[in-house]
Amino acid sequence: MFKRIREPSHQGLSIGDGDIHNVTGRMSEGLNVIVLVKQVPEIEKVRFDREKGRLDRGSAGAVVNPFDLHALETAVRIRESAGGKVTALSMGPKKAEESLRDVLARGADRAVLLTDARFAGADTLATSYTLSIAIQKLGAFDLIVCGEKTVDGDTAQVGPEVAEFLDIPHVAYVEEIREIWESGIVVRSKTGKHYLLVELEFPALITVTKDINTPRLPTLKDKLKSRKAAITAWGAQDLSEAGGTDFFGLSGSPTWVANVYAPHSGERKGQTIRGTPEVAARKIADILGSLIVPR
Ligand SMILES: Cc1cc2nc3c(=O)[nH]c(=O)nc-3n(C[C@H](O)[C@H](O)[C@H](O)COP(=O)(O)OP(=O)(O)OC[C@H]3O[C@@H](n4cnc5c(N)ncnc54)[C@H](O)[C@@H]3O)c2cc1C
Repeated sequence: MFKRIREPSHQGLSIGDGDIHNVTGRMSEGLNVIVLVKQVPEIEKVRFDREKGRLDRGSAGAVVNPFDLHALETAVRIRESAGGKVTALSMGPKKAEESLRDVLARGADRAVLLTDARFAGADTLATSYTLSIAIQKLGAFDLIVCGEKTVDGDTAQVGPEVAEFLDIPHVAYVEEIREIWESGIVVRSKTGKHYLLVELEFPALITVTKDINTPRLPTLKDKLKSRKAAITAWGAQDLSEAGGTDFFGLSGSPTWVANVYAPHSGERKGQTIRGTPEVAARKIADILGSLIVPR
């Protein structure tokens, strides 16, 4: 339940899971919010292909990453309170259109799918780069909302990496929006045992946890409407004006999956590394370097 910790300093809105408090009127032009949405396999059903070392995505149906439904709900509530527009952006195969129709039925105004064979095999860096180029092509925005992580990749890297590519402030693991106004936002984020209260100026990016809200269910009417909605599809060529295409997909991916195995449950040992920060950093880099498996 939303609790205000101090008087809003910007006469803004406060958005929690319950009612919306302190609505002071719609902002002049509303906020332009982008939600990043990934299609994932139904995680309880999907099988793992041990030989190829990856998920057999054909073995289960596909759904919107559950964390992204909370991101979408956050964005839709902001639009409902402050006015503006919600654009859902996804990178994935053509089939990911189904998930974008789902988010349109749940309240997004517009959906864009990045789909091209040249995006295939992307690691998190190439995924984030491609998404950030598409965001630049979309034009001016106020806030990007992502899920905290996905249920298939589970790295929680994409949100912060997108923000770094766009050179905008970001906060991860947001579980409450304390205030929002025309040019910024105050969020509460949980990091381990601690809470952070952070004020960000727009444009900014947040990743949200499942505690932030309860996603709404789409109505039958909205589901039917979303079936006919137009979905913008962009390929590598469409993004070429905004950035270099060499960093898409496999060719833009500095990491790769060398092997997949269940970790040993052996005893873990700590190691103390001494020296100046530079010397210690070099030693750590050498240890990590010795663990790299050649491609
Ligand atoms: C070497 C390597 C090769 C890979 N090859 C493939 C491959 O061939 N095919 C494949 O499907 N995957 C591949 N992957 C996985 C792919 O890189 C990740 O699925 C992707 O980068 C997202 O990472 P994540 O799932 O950990 O997302 P996280 O960082 O956990 O996601 C956080 C949030 O970012 C947003 N987000 C994440 N991904 C997307 C997306 N695609 N579109 C929109 N928003 C998104 C969502 O809001 C999500 O909640 C590969 C990964 C590696 C490391």
